[in-house]
Amino acid sequence: MASIRRSTLLLLVLTMTSPLLAAERTRAEAESLTKKVLAEAIVIDTHADTPQMMLDEGYDLGDPSSPYMISIPKMRAGHEGAQFFSIWVPVDWPAEDLIHRALDLMDVVDEQVVRHSDSLEFASTADDVVRIHRAGKIAALMGVEGGHIIENDLRVLDMYYRLGVRYMTLTHTKNTAWADSSGDHPRWNGLTDFGKQVVLRMNRLGMMVDISHVADKTFEDAVEVSKAPIIASHSSCRALCPAPRDLTDDMLRQLARNGGVVDINFYSAFLDPQFREAQAKILPKIEAAVSAERDRLAKQGQRLSYPKENEIRVKMEAELVKPSYRVIADHIDHAVKVAGADHVGLGSDFDGVDAIQ
Ligand SMILES: [Zn+2]
Repeated sequence: MASIRRSTLLLLVLTMTSPLLAAERTRAEAESLTKKVLAEAIVIDTHADTPQMMLDEGYDLGDPSSPYMISIPKMRAGHEGAQFFSIWVPVDWPAEDLIHRALDLMDVVDEQVVRHSDSLEFASTADDVVRIHRAGKIAALMGVEGGHIIENDLRVLDMYYRLGVRYMTLTHTKNTAWADSSGDHPRWNGLTDFGKQVVLRMNRLGMMVDISHVADKTFEDAVEVSKAPIIASHSSCRALCPAPRDLTDDMLRQLARNGGVVDINFYSAFLDPQFREAQAKILPKIEAAVSAERDRLAKQGQRLSYPKENEIRVKMEAELVKPSYRVIADHIDHAVKVAGADHVGLGSDFDGVDAIQ
């Protein structure tokens, strides 16, 4: 007893006389707590755009000196248990070729999982994720980003599901023929009748309905129509940053009542109002540079790839002051306060965004 008291006293004295030591101990405590949590929890990231890099740049996930945000060594270092790879096709892609592009993206994810079968394994169910995690591997999953990619045919949803797709984001940055996007002018007042059928078909298949990117009214309609909980695979809190595709507190509460989950996006322009404002000022210049490069390549019969477009954006945004990664925690805290811890997760948007500190 006495020795315990003596050591406690010693600790106290050390704390008082050595702030550095105290800080180090706090860090050590935090690290050991993190280790304990990570030993029990499965870290799932519901959104990364890395398949674009795999397809257009021949990027290999095993690359130990990867220039991108997602790689197997980085996922291992981050104790990731499961990663959803986004099957995203830009909204201006030729309409008759959307499905082909999606299939090409699914193919490269498939190839990577086969090539790195010691680290990655496809998961089709929640039980698969648990089993793969226990086996010491990272579960790979896919989500389609943008309802335009089904080319207005419900049967394509069935096909995507059979190929392993487990969520679909109803829109990307433009309205589809059946749903309004937060990045566009309202056209359908949310979901059309066909849009509601899309949601019900997804429910029937067991494919999660993802409302990241959609207009507020589309969100309302999806919550009302869906018979299963819905998700926001990569969205943050509008109360902290006025991005129209972030969720308001009211939406967070509705999502919680629905049993759904919001997975917080790590993109500076969805997290930090100062960054968003500064970016808005140089955005016309950036868009002009991107479209000049797009036109230049079009004259040679080529297309500006997403990784190359992103390079232009990253270079031009280098001068902007990026927020600390701590704002991600602020958004998580806010969402937990409003929706409850059971309804908040991580949706990094890695390799799909151009500014993360
Ligand atoms: Zn997105």
